[in-house]
Amino acid sequence: MIRKFISRVLGGKKTKVGQHEPAIIPVSTHGITRDRISSGSRRVCETLQGHGHKAFVVGGAVRDLLIGAEPKDFDIATDATPEEIRRHFRRARIIGRRFQIVHVMMGQETLEVTTFRGALADNTKKDEHGRVLHDNVFGSQAEDAARRDFTANALYYDPASEAVIDYHHGVGDLKQKTLRMIGEPRARYREDPVRMLRAVRLAAKLGLLIDPAASMPIREMAVLLENVPAARLFDEMLKLLTSGHSVKCITQLRDEGLHHGLLPLLDVILEQPMGEKFVMLALANTDERVRNNKGVAPSFLFATLLWHEVLAHWEKLKAAGEAKIPALHQAMDTVLDTQGEKLAITRRIAGDIKDIWALQPRFEARAGKRPYALLEHQRFRAGYDFLLLRTESGEIDSELGEWWTDFQNADGEKRAEMLMPEQAGDKKRRRRRKKPANSDVDRAPQEVPLGNDSSSESRAE
Ligand code: ATP
Ligand code: MG
Repeated sequence: MIRKFISRVLGGKKTKVGQHEPAIIPVSTHGITRDRISSGSRRVCETLQGHGHKAFVVGGAVRDLLIGAEPKDFDIATDATPEEIRRHFRRARIIGRRFQIVHVMMGQETLEVTTFRGALADNTKKDEHGRVLHDNVFGSQAEDAARRDFTANALYYDPASEAVIDYHHGVGDLKQKTLRMIGEPRARYREDPVRMLRAVRLAAKLGLLIDPAASMPIREMAVLLENVPAARLFDEMLKLLTSGHSVKCITQLRDEGLHHGLLPLLDVILEQPMGEKFVMLALANTDERVRNNKGVAPSFLFATLLWHEVLAHWEKLKAAGEAKIPALHQAMDTVLDTQGEKLAITRRIAGDIKDIWALQPRFEARAGKRPYALLEHQRFRAGYDFLLLRTESGEIDSELGEWWTDFQNADGEKRAEMLMPEQAGDKKRRRRRKKPANSDVDRAPQEVPLGNDSSSESRAE
């Protein structure tokens, strides 16, 4: 019924070339009542409409509601200009220089309000591969719809009438579980190659199939991603890894031919034969956390992605005669120096990653006061979760992880019983550490960056 109705509308009236009258789908058909959208987005639309503007909830939120998923956030599209939008709200600020958007604060919510974008003009500034560089023209709602990437993302919800306005058969495509590109896929990928990554992420996340016309060119056009600024790729990859479906995304990226040499982050994930099990386990773990609404720290994620590289360097240095702990620190620095820049890892995140790695050898000490000190460490939890991943992946014996699980849960008496006897070597090492630091090759445990807990090591002694 709806399909017939939509195709009648689409097949029939055309306004300008490539622009159609939209299908207006009533609430009786799609079932999304206005109480399903956030109160902030409802109020923003009401206010703008009250001042005579068009205003709709748009994009991901409408799509997610239609397939019964929980929207992440509610974006709003309007024909009001950024200045007009700002004037109508007490707490609003314009952000972005080239294409301005407005952040409107409503209670706890921040709504992103965007003025309809216009069609790309013939003289739009592009790079030599066709990637759009400047994109700052306002336009009509129909033009805005045509500028969006997939039909399922070009849906507008009007809280006043509770109707969905569908310019590109998005509702029908969603029903058929298809992610279809608006316009000619090759041209759209050339304008913005990141759309290839978005296709994979959205399809995996929403359980949709990428329409063959949109999936076919990916393999051959993937190389265009090399031309996209690193920070943008990094953002998109991070979205993908924290989508709750990272394992599916990574598998699909590989299947679509989006790997090797294109995305530094993906290379890190796929090019470690020894560490693949560990990385995949870590990603599955991350997916689980996201789906249970637990936070995912980028530092933990990157610590896992890069761990086997650290291990490889560490082994090499130890084999060359370097002492254990200094070798680990040298390996950490080497890996972070080479990958940090490529992956746009910030200094703060790099510091957190090092903390997690540096804790690992400390889990081996199960005698004396050191285990107690480790329990108190600010990053103990992250370090322990990381240790469990290492045991689960078979890198180290599971007995160590089990010991730490038990030690945490035990009471004072039981803990004391669990401690391992101090070995002769431990005492010797401790004595040596009391000498002036520069006289000893094995001084490094005191150099371990301990975050805010830099006293714990000395307390343990
Ligand atoms: P998510 O659930 O991850 O937020 P989303 O589709 O809402 O998915 P956003 O990045 O929030 O993704 O983008 C909001 C909307 O903006 C999209 O639904 C789409 O209509 C449009 N959009 C975003 N990125 C692009 C792009 N690269 N090309 C064209 N349209 C885009
Ligand atoms: Mg969104």
